[in-house]
This record gives sequence, structure tokens and C-alpha cells, in this order.
Amino acid sequence: MSLSLSAPVLQKARDPVEGNIMKIPRQNFAHQIEKDEWRVLEEIAAAIRSGQAILSEHVSDFEEDFARYLSVAHVVGVNSGTDALVLALRALGVGPGDEVVTQANTFHATVAAICLVGATPILVDPHPETFLMMADAAVGAFSSRTKAVIPVHLFGKPTPLIELIEAAEARGIYVVEDSAQSHGASRDGAKTGTLGIFGCFSFHPSKNLAASGDAGAICTNDGDLAQKLRMLRHLGQPQTHSHILLGCNSRLDAIQAIILRAKLRHLDAWNRARSSVAARYRTALSGCPITFQALDADETHVFHLLQIRTDRRDQLYQYLRQRGIDAKICYPTPVHRQPAFSHLDWPQDAFPVSSALAAELLCLPIRPDMTPGEVDFVSQAVREFL
Ligand SMILES: *Cc1c(COP(=O)(O)O)cnc(C)c1O
Repeated sequence: MSLSLSAPVLQKARDPVEGNIMKIPRQNFAHQIEKDEWRVLEEIAAAIRSGQAILSEHVSDFEEDFARYLSVAHVVGVNSGTDALVLALRALGVGPGDEVVTQANTFHATVAAICLVGATPILVDPHPETFLMMADAAVGAFSSRTKAVIPVHLFGKPTPLIELIEAAEARGIYVVEDSAQSHGASRDGAKTGTLGIFGCFSFHPSKNLAASGDAGAICTNDGDLAQKLRMLRHLGQPQTHSHILLGCNSRLDAIQAIILRAKLRHLDAWNRARSSVAARYRTALSGCPITFQALDADETHVFHLLQIRTDRRDQLYQYLRQRGIDAKICYPTPVHRQPAFSHLDWPQDAFPVSSALAAELLCLPIRPDMTPGEVDFVSQAVREFL
């Protein structure tokens, strides 16, 4: 082995608009791999040399580790969080004529997945304080055509599911959890993704558990559905040259699986560190005219994003970026106003809570390796502006 590398250091991003270096970046990929870099690179080199790059034990090892981590029977690795949602819906037979209920303030991919299988998305405005879809609102949107409901554990906060699952099961409606932002989050002792028929995860580089490229997974306790998912991601093949389902090519990449397996061991520690950063922000910003996503006593929130809500959002965003603080807006245009969904004819003024959140939420940088000094620097800038 003759790899030569410098020690991993924080790579500071440039602002694409202002061109200045971000003093407080949102991501530190070097930190994520720091403890494992040599071992991971050696494993990747071995996989490249042996040609073990499609599925192989690298993928099944990660699937088993992640299943054990979640306390769930099966994990099926796929090539993105979007595909995880699409394949989950396909495995359940959701398609044209069916309705799928989800929340209006989610990321584009949740709603795109519903449309990609030919079903009709029915949006529900979120609760204004938790930013999540509450059970009564979701149930109010159920109809005789509803086939599935997708709660999204947005920003890392676990959605309360007991009531929703009871109501859905009574009507034969599947609950598919969008856990793309909530790896390791839990409520009442159950990790997100494990209570619904499927939990769908993304390992996009921005997520709490991040690949070095695109990757995703679906978890389930149903062995038959897991088997079906394994075929759907692999061109419908139970074994080579036997295509019994119309599948697609959406296998988790073996090299990404090697990286994910190494990082998974640190996920809980990183989530705890995120939680401390969030707590420090809350203390440092107490008394400011802003609000945070509401917290509950019985939850473990994993703070994928740290959102603050202010009616001077756009000006604060500019102010922070000019000071080298990598603030971000997620998501500036609500789903119902995206041109991709214009055929659904949602009125501009539908979903007022989702629209207000799109106009007023700002993400402050949050990383597991963030120092108290960095949090205080950002908080000080927010205070100065307000
Ligand atoms: C990131 C994300 C997805 C999509 O995941 P990709 O891996 O980017 O395809 C889906 N839903 C939510 C809520 C997400 O944040």
C-alpha cells in the first residue's frame, strides 16, 4: 500500500455569490472520516483491485450493521433517498389512481417520488411550531383513494406516529417514513424509520450519516417486502438473468457502503454533539425575537438542520453570509409553488403555514465538530443584526 495523504483538515468553502471564504462552514467532511481514513482507503483500494464493486459483501455488511443499529429486521441499500421512496411506493403497489398524503413543507424529493410512481400527492400543512405533519391533519386528508401516507421527520425531529399508524392501519393505508433527515432520531424508544412499513433514508453528503456521493436505504421488518425491494433495485432479478419484476438499477454502491459502514460507528456520538450545539444556540439566542422548532420531552431530536424563524429572514441571511457564516435557506420555495408540480393546480395561497415557513426559516450552521467559540460567533452576529 503506497497511499500518501496529508492529515485531514477542515476545507473551508467559498460563498458562491460573495466569493469570500466561509469562516463558519456548514460541513466538515474531513472531520467525518478523520479517525478511519487509512482503513477506509485501504478497503476501497482492495474493492477496486478485486472488482468487488457491485453489491458484494461490502453492501450486505453495511445493510446488516444499519439494521442492527435501527433494531429492524432488514435494510436494503439503494442509490439515493429519492429512489428509496420511489422503490418503497412501488413495492407497495402504489400507482396511478392512488393518493399519497404527505406534508406541504417537505423537501422536493418526497413529493416527486409520489408523482414518479404515477400517484397523486395530497399535501397537508404542517403544525406551525413543530414544522411536522400532525396525525389529525393527515387523517383529515385521507380519502377512499389514499394508499399511503409519508410523514417526514423534518430537520431531525421525530414525528409522533402512534396515533397516525393506528388510524392508517384501520383504513388499510401504509405508513412510509421519510427518514432522510433523521438517522438515529427516536421517540418513545423507537428509532425513526422503524414503525412504518418502510423507513426511507438518504445518505446524501449533507445528511447526518453521509456518503461521499449519492446513496440511500430502505428498512423494514417485512421479509417478503425486503425481498421484493432487493429485486426492484436489481433490475427485477432474484438471481442473474432471471427478471421476474420490472425493476430498475438502483443498487447501493459498494464504495459508498464501505464509507457509510465506517461512519455509522460514530453516528450516535455525532448526533449527541449536534444536540449540544443546538442547546448552546438556544441559550445564546434566548430573548431574541426568533423562534426555534418546538422540542418534546420524549424525543431524541438529531438536529439535521438548526432552523430559526424570523420575519427578517432574507436580510439576516445576507448579513450572516457577508460575515463568513454559512447560513442557508431550506427551502425557499414551498413544494406547491414549484413548476414541476404545476399540473396539480395547487393555488398559490394554499398551505399558509408551509408558505410562511418558506419565507421565515433560516438554517444556522450546525456540525458535530463545531466548537463553543464558533457557536458563540454565529450567535453574536445574529444578536447584532436583531
Ligand atoms: C435528502 C432528502 C431526500 C432525498 O434524498 P436524496 O438522497 O437526495 O435523493 C428525501 N426526503 C428528504 C426529506 C430529504 O431531506
